[in-house]
Amino acid sequence: MARPAERLAANVAGPFYVDASCIDCGTCWQFDPAHFAPTGSTSHVRAQPAGKTETRAALLALQACPVAAIGATRELLEQTTADGFPALVASRLEGNVHYCGWASRRSFGASSWLITRRRSDGRANNVLIDSPRWSAPLARRIDALGGVSRILLSHRDDVADHAAWARHFGAERWIHSADADAAPQAEHRFEGSNPLALDDDLLVVPVPGHTAGSVAVLFAGQVLFSGDHLWWGVDPPGVMASRRVCWWNWDEQLRSVERLLEFDVRWLLPGHGRWHALAAGEWRRELEQMLAREGQGGEL
Ligand code: SF4
Repeated sequence: MARPAERLAANVAGPFYVDASCIDCGTCWQFDPAHFAPTGSTSHVRAQPAGKTETRAALLALQACPVAAIGATRELLEQTTADGFPALVASRLEGNVHYCGWASRRSFGASSWLITRRRSDGRANNVLIDSPRWSAPLARRIDALGGVSRILLSHRDDVADHAAWARHFGAERWIHSADADAAPQAEHRFEGSNPLALDDDLLVVPVPGHTAGSVAVLFAGQVLFSGDHLWWGVDPPGVMASRRVCWWNWDEQLRSVERLLEFDVRWLLPGHGRWHALAAGEWRRELEQMLAREGQGGEL
């Protein structure tokens, strides 16, 4: 629970605030950049929401915060809804893609994602990418969307409450064997470095580097769930990765970037960092520019 006495000085005046317990995970400003922004080592409220729609967005950011570092008045908190997450991100594909909110401190606030889609017989065949923190309201909302049949874990850092979600939905979990000690109960392993088509619309691409067992998941040929391999940077804008947060092997990570050149990704949905929609052909140009910056010794 956020404490008014620990309200950070960087917040603009008004009912919403970030307090000193912020861990700088970025969840709030990635979800609601109109009202939250990074400060350097924390985040802060950059503008107070006005009106119902903006207030709902700020309250959802509050709900998503993994450490309850966002506060508001009691009157505003009473307007918090239980139906905000999962929030629709992309539609009109072979299914819909949603952001799950309810970030977990155990994955440092990493984003998790839900694909809702149907089998040819009409039954739901939904997929959870990485794990939000356990939340009964979120579980009820996902139940109403047809539950989850598979949980794909992008790498060891973002497994959070996978066991509780797998138990609730009766879902089968997948993780790469090189990161499997982070979720040893997972029912299935990805092996090696070759892409694996789990379904016609679901391709898993091993991208070792950030960790030895990192994988990216490509849905419908155009939505890439990138884990911590790549994300959309803000200043300057563009696809980026960082040697500073590479925990395993940077040269391998660069080779893994090259392996993604062949796709025409239209949505980049990472574990950390901004998510972003791309125009046709933009993905390849972005990756080529990244790799060129590395060749010049620059930060990616
Ligand atoms: S979501 Fe919470 S912990 Fe993360 S940056 Fe925002 S206020 Fe800080």
